[in-house]
Amino acid sequence: MAYVELHNINKHFKKFHASKDINISIEKGKLVALLGPSGSGKTTILRMIAGLEQPDSGEIIIDGKVVNNVPGSERGIGFVFQNYALFRYMTVYDNIAFGLRVKKIPEDQIKERVTELLNLINCQGLEKRFPSQLSGGQRQRVAFARALAPNPKILLLDEPFAAIDAKVRLELRTWLREMITKLNITSVFVTHDQDEAIEVADEIIVTNQGRVEQSGTPQELYKNPLTPFVAQFIGNSV
Ligand code: ADP
Repeated sequence: MAYVELHNINKHFKKFHASKDINISIEKGKLVALLGPSGSGKTTILRMIAGLEQPDSGEIIIDGKVVNNVPGSERGIGFVFQNYALFRYMTVYDNIAFGLRVKKIPEDQIKERVTELLNLINCQGLEKRFPSQLSGGQRQRVAFARALAPNPKILLLDEPFAAIDAKVRLELRTWLREMITKLNITSVFVTHDQDEAIEVADEIIVTNQGRVEQSGTPQELYKNPLTPFVAQFIGNSV
């Protein structure tokens, strides 16, 4: 059953048509890649799902409910921003606790949750460090923990592996896959890297010039590309 749906979504930035008649359906528990070249409209789609941008027309539906008028903070979404965007002057503990403090959760419950998340991301003992004192991989894990802290139903990630060196990237892809399966959370990540999408995602949504070209499993896209763009874009990676 579809958990996140976009129906006929259009979005302009002034005269620029950034999202053109977007139709997307994402099933619960799936890990989905939004894959396309730079400027093809991936981040705009992610930001509209999160409520960080409003579409000009069309519907965004989460769990069967139209959420166009629901504030992002009430959509049950965790967001991992490009380059993590951790708060530089806050410790790891305070970064992870941030979203819980916004919700006015009592400090003793926050402590319990942060400890649980530090275990999940394998960063026990790092809670007093600042982001500058962490490795790239640790920073990324802390950004995941911050996004996961309020127990979102949907995790959105903008280029989650882009700023990480190749060796750690492989390890983190596997880790992300396992974590998302374990938490049974619905996830969408943005990438321009075909190999990454094919290796990590259950399903891939291919974007080009503001449109969705095709969506399906990596195998479907590879075996049965519906447009020359998909054939070339996916075909080149294998
Ligand atoms: P991608 O994530 O695929 O690189 P984006 O969704 O970030 O693409 O951007 C798609 C297009 O929309 C780009 O040409 C970008 O310049 C434009 N765009 C995105 N956000 C804005 C904005 N806030 N104001 C003006 N133009 C924007």
